Amino acid sequence: MVAIPTAAGAVDHADLGATLMHEHVFIRSPGVFEAWPELWNREAEVDHAVERLRELKAAGIDTIVDLTTIDLGRDAAMVAEVARRVDLNVVMCTGVWRQPPNLFQRLESDDIADLFARDIERGIEGSGVRAGVIKLATQPTVDAVNEKMLRAGARAHRRTGVPISTHSDVTTESGLAQQDVFESEGVDLSRVVIGHSGDSADTDYLRRIMDRGSLIGMDRFGIDRTLDTEGRVATIAALCGMGYAEGMVLSHDANCFMDTLPRETRRETMPNWHYLHISRDVLPALRARGVTEGQIEAMLTGNPRRFFARSGPY
Ligand SMILES: [Zn+2]
Repeated sequence: MVAIPTAAGAVDHADLGATLMHEHVFIRSPGVFEAWPELWNREAEVDHAVERLRELKAAGIDTIVDLTTIDLGRDAAMVAEVARRVDLNVVMCTGVWRQPPNLFQRLESDDIADLFARDIERGIEGSGVRAGVIKLATQPTVDAVNEKMLRAGARAHRRTGVPISTHSDVTTESGLAQQDVFESEGVDLSRVVIGHSGDSADTDYLRRIMDRGSLIGMDRFGIDRTLDTEGRVATIAALCGMGYAEGMVLSHDANCFMDTLPRETRRETMPNWHYLHISRDVLPALRARGVTEGQIEAMLTGNPRRFFARSGPY
């Protein structure tokens, strides 16, 4: 048994079940809602998130990975409040997204790795919730600041054994550049998910990432403007046909609350971008294209379980 930390306590890796590998609960401008709490109704948003996650559990999903970092307004205590009220696991993260704190420009990779390791070993802020994954983001390309973040994450990963999940940009094929940096830090690439790979329909690019050992995140279902559901489904089905079901994980990159995008606007502009799209629409579409139950099981359950089970520093 490997104990995986979640917002409501540790869970045996064998009990993670069907897992959406890249979601969010609350995405907020850092610090703003603490400074001006009247900007939202915190209690109502917690209740709303509880409803969404209960609904998701009823649709057959057991675990989500919340890749909300400090620069996306992460609040582990608030997610824990939600997680304690639902029968669904929420794995929290450390690391950074695309707007690392200004302070990180001055710190070295090792100093930043210490901070990430603190979230993993001692818990995030005062919440007692330990991070179960390290998030790192590259867009559009790996520049000097971004490289420092990737190295910091790689070092925190090797020190703690907690795996890495990234935000990459398919337009620059930055997943491969991320792998280069991780490799130069001695990271076992099978301990890494190269996220947002599903924005690409280029099976050559995607296979190059998987051939180096990493999982790819087919993780933005419902964000149709980059690639619609049919395109995302067709790409996965093609890769399954080539024997790559063991290399993919699924998700939406959706959320319960996002301060920059009111729910009404989202419903109008991106009607499929919600937690239930995969369960309701994507899995039937994959089956219709000949993807087998075994392959779906691998992408939804087996691959995430294997990813989290391989713990231990090296
Ligand atoms: Zn995300």
